[in-house]
Amino acid sequence: MLLPEAFMRRVSRDLGEAEGRALCEALDTPSPVAVRLHPTKAGAACAPPHELAAGLPALSFDRPIPWSPQGWYLTERPSFTFDTDFHAGAYYVQEPSSQFVCHLLRHVETRGARILDMCAAPGGKTTLYASMVGADGLVVANEIDRRRAAVLADNVRKWGLGNVAVTVCEPRALGDCETWFDAVAVDAPCSGEGMFRKDPDARTEWSEAGVHLCARRQDEILRAAWQALRPGGTLIYSTCTFNREENEGSLERMLAWAVDEAEPSDEVPVDAAWGIVCGEVGPFRTYRFYPHRACGEGFFAAAARKAGAAAGTRPHRMPKSKARRSAVVPADRMATAEAARWLLEPERMKFVMAGDTLYAWFGPQAETVRMLSERVPVIYSGIALGQLFKGRLKPDPALAFSTELNRAALPIAELDEVQALRYLRRQEVEAAAFVEGVNLVCARGRALGFAKRIGARVNNSYPASLRIVADWRETASERCR
Ligand code: SAM
Repeated sequence: MLLPEAFMRRVSRDLGEAEGRALCEALDTPSPVAVRLHPTKAGAACAPPHELAAGLPALSFDRPIPWSPQGWYLTERPSFTFDTDFHAGAYYVQEPSSQFVCHLLRHVETRGARILDMCAAPGGKTTLYASMVGADGLVVANEIDRRRAAVLADNVRKWGLGNVAVTVCEPRALGDCETWFDAVAVDAPCSGEGMFRKDPDARTEWSEAGVHLCARRQDEILRAAWQALRPGGTLIYSTCTFNREENEGSLERMLAWAVDEAEPSDEVPVDAAWGIVCGEVGPFRTYRFYPHRACGEGFFAAAARKAGAAAGTRPHRMPKSKARRSAVVPADRMATAEAARWLLEPERMKFVMAGDTLYAWFGPQAETVRMLSERVPVIYSGIALGQLFKGRLKPDPALAFSTELNRAALPIAELDEVQALRYLRRQEVEAAAFVEGVNLVCARGRALGFAKRIGARVNNSYPASLRIVADWRETASERCR
């Protein structure tokens, strides 16, 4: 599939003929493959490649991504689908340029921060922010599209840090949480020119009219994002497209109404060898990734601070709104006692019931999540622990992925790769590794989910939404028959 003619003409005009040609040629070369490691499930990201590969044998580590402390380039693309560590959430497959957003926050105190990720699905940057804010912080990950929000929630469960609330609403509903957030990230829906290399559909879907449409949408999202940001807080704006209208143009249009309220964020070091093109739009510092210069996909990122109060100050209560009825109620004493058994540090948690499901929220942000649920639809938050039957917990799959799970609470069935892949396909697994009752299913010591042994049979309760459906091995062998 050729690049769109109008796109090629424009980059040649904007970048000059030679540079435009270099960009177009780079868009026909293979993309680098990269991952970002989980802060606790994967081992130390600063370990040498051979040590990392011993813990994550499906991955062939090449070199660290210089702007992302947990990011690594791989020498080749493995079959992620058939790697049990991928399913355990030990790493997230993430394009290198987009990992740059963590570098933009390197001078910001992110531990304990409230970050709003306004356009969050499928969750690449959400999981990155969750790794940064820690248990005292909170990431509110919003997605306007219900189907995409469900995928986002799955990825949040799998990352397992318990410090994310997933909301599904229009950005303006979160804008109404005025000045509530320490940082707001707008990874805007865009015309996707930076994906021309990775995703052939991006070429067919692109049009000049689409660029204008995206630009108008970005204006609205930025308005809501700015409203939600507290004075002293940081706004991060990013797209995966090259054109000016959706990048510098969006910032210029925003500054037309916000210029007096914005100030430069702290400068972040950018090594010339990284190939990033740095610039400025008023108080915004901007960073452009071109695939013929930097080792990553096309990407644009910018950051500025909201002027006003000194950094570190933020409101304690959300402004009043026409409240929705929250479905959340505090868990009773019996439920709390049962929940506590399943967690490593239950004293740090608040337990609530939402419908028939028991959830754990980290104490410092529990009130925020509750208030949030009174304003906008929250489809996932904290750690889903499970349902109670006669006072006993039937654990939710999310609890298996949680870094807070107390493994002493139940027996562990350690499966070999063949059995683990059968489990991940929701097929029958051999009972030998299981004891009677509910077991935590692990592969290479990493938790994948729960399963219950009843006599000689194992009930495989792996979630249908996560199950492996593609199977090239079976398909290939079927073709041979
Ligand atoms: N941040 C995500 C990540 O790192 O995985 C990628 C986000 S993607 C570039 C942009 C998202 O914005 C899409 O999931 C899309 O559904 C959502 N979106 C589309 N229209 C929107 C709108 N009007 N307001 C907010 N989000 C929108």
